[in-house]
Parts: sequence; C-alpha cells; structure tokens
Amino acid sequence: MTYAKLAKPSVLTQPVYEPGKPIEYVARELGLDPAGIIKLASNENPFGPSPLAVAAAKRALDQGELYPDGGCFELRQKLAAKWGLGADQFVIGNGSNELIELLAHAFVGQGDEVVMGAPAFVVYKLATLLFGAKPVEVPLRNWVHDLPAMAAAVTPRTKLVYVCAPNNPTGTTNSPAELIAFVRALPAHVIAVIDEAYAEYLETAPDFRPLIAEGRLVVCLRTFSKIYGLASLRVGYAYGSAELCGLLNRVRQPFNVNAIAQAAAVAALDDHAFAAKCARDNRAGLRQLEDGCRRLGLEVVPSVANFLLVRVGHGAKVFNYLQARGVIVRPVASYGLPEWIRITVGTAAQNERLLAELPAALR
Ligand SMILES: *Cc1c(COP(=O)(O)O)cnc(C)c1O
Repeated sequence: MTYAKLAKPSVLTQPVYEPGKPIEYVARELGLDPAGIIKLASNENPFGPSPLAVAAAKRALDQGELYPDGGCFELRQKLAAKWGLGADQFVIGNGSNELIELLAHAFVGQGDEVVMGAPAFVVYKLATLLFGAKPVEVPLRNWVHDLPAMAAAVTPRTKLVYVCAPNNPTGTTNSPAELIAFVRALPAHVIAVIDEAYAEYLETAPDFRPLIAEGRLVVCLRTFSKIYGLASLRVGYAYGSAELCGLLNRVRQPFNVNAIAQAAAVAALDDHAFAAKCARDNRAGLRQLEDGCRRLGLEVVPSVANFLLVRVGHGAKVFNYLQARGVIVRPVASYGLPEWIRITVGTAAQNERLLAELPAALR
C-alpha cells in the first residue's frame, strides 16, 4: 500500500506554493554571510515591527504556558473601535492566508467555481483546488482586474469572487468607485472577497462598510504581515457580516492565533505614528525604485503597494544573479510573467543596493 493511493485526489494534484527564500537558507545554499543579504522578495516591512508591538509580544511570552484567548477578544474589540463595526463582525486568522482557506472550508466544494484575476495572489487558486473546486481565472486588463470580465465569468456555480486590491504581484488597483459598483452588481448568490493586504499603503482605500451594512455579501481581508511588520507572527483578520463571521469561526481551529501574535497586533494598532511613517517611507522608496529602474531603461508597472513589478528580460536569470550577490527578489514566471521580477520596496539603502547591482544582472 502507498499513501498516495489513500490520499484524496485533490491532494495528489495540488500545486505547491513557492515562498520567497529565507535569508538563512540562501546564505547556507550559496555560502554567503547572512548579514550581507537583503531580502526584497516577500513584501515584508523593511522597517521591522513597531517597537510597541515587539514590547507587547515579549510581555505575552512570559505567559507562554497558557492557551491563548481562542476568541481574540481584545484584538476584536480594538478592531471594532477602529472600524466602527461590531466585535462580532471580525474573524482573526493565522495570517490572512488562513482566512482564505477558511472561506474555502465554509463555502467551496466539488462542482463549485471561484472567480479570480490572473495574475493575482496564487493562494486563491490553491485554496480552491484543495477543496476540489474550479478556479476561474480572468486575465487582468492593463494590469488591473478586468471587473466586467470577472462579472461575466460568474455562473450559477460561482461561490466566491476574489478581488485583490491592491493586487499582488502587480501592485496596481482598481478605483474605489469601480470596486464598489462591481460588488453591488454581483448576483445575490456570490460572495465578494476583497483582499486588502496592501490597503494601508493607499492614500485612500475603498470603504466596503456601507455595502456590508446593506447586507451585500462582501468580506474584506487584512493582514498584520505587511505595513505592521508582523509577518513572522501570522495574524490577519476578516471583516464582514456577523453571520459570515459566525460561520468562519465554526471551521477554524479553537486556538488558531497565538497569544504573542494577538498581543503584538493589539499594540501595533495603537502605533499610528509607525504605520504612517512606513506608508510615507514606502512611497519615497517606490519612487526611488521606479526612477532607478526607468533610468536603466526598464519598464515598470506603476505601483501603489510596497513592491514593484519590473521587466528585466529574463526574470529567472536576473533573480539568480542578484541572489548570488546577496539580493533576494521574486521571480514571477509562476505568475505567467517570465520576463519580470517583483521587488519589494526596502529601506533607502536597500533600494540603492538593488539598483546598484541591477545593471550587471541585466547584462
Ligand atoms: C502578503 C499577502 C497576504 C498576507 O498573508 P498573511 O497570511 O496575512 O501573511 C494576503 N494577501 C495577499 C495578496 C498578499 O500579498
């Protein structure tokens, strides 16, 4: 007997997610000093976590023998106050990746369809396939979600429609008015899922709360992994109707988010100055990268997020060259963009180093 014969068919055909390589891994693989490596591959915050979040996480560690609050009471209270919603309108996840999986758990099965952009965050597709359903990928148009085409791709079997705003890996977004009109026009049996992982980087993010209040089926996903600098701790949240949150809570593990992450997230929400500074510095870093790439004659996709898609010719070759020099970026051939790389906005010094290494990598 083999395990494969016993496994569910969806597991055997499941593609494997390829994460950005950790610094230590690249250092070992290439015999480099980890201290000299910079990682601009996973859209992490180059300014680290907020010091308030770090202090709170350290305090929480002292009570590491206790189970966390499975209901994330304090964090949901904090979010409720921030958003002017009920605490029962939030579900906290082990990263927003878990929330994508919980949505599939609760709503998606064999015979169902899930509509998504292409290229868009690959986890929508992975979660759909894992639950035996069909991903319906709608190509972007001019680098943004083709919302009319996505609406046209909806069938009676469609359960979820994912819109990533701003989108990963393009860094682009549809306008708030377009997004809101799109959600309003969806048929009643379809749940709109808006992935707002990078919304904190926008000058003005769309506000879906009126649609939630109207009873539209829309749920928004946020994360503490990006502007809040807590990717390692794994915490994100969904907000939407209390009914939806009740269903998602049924399918999650009782203690899905650890106490250290909860404490850090609560403190991070209080550090407005830190988040505001990160957004400002990110905008300056984006300009630095865009200008630098254009000076090298490279095409870029204008970004409103914390990363930049750059056309370098042979993405894999440039990626390998840079990596050997201790600069890790993201090849995006798996997103159907073999000529491009995705560069996370780093500190000014990191951006400068990337731009200094790039000309030789292009040759
Ligand atoms: C980074 C990212 C997330 C965040 O995932 P976490 O599990 O919260 O770390 C979610 N969606 C998109 C599009 C992302 O790029």
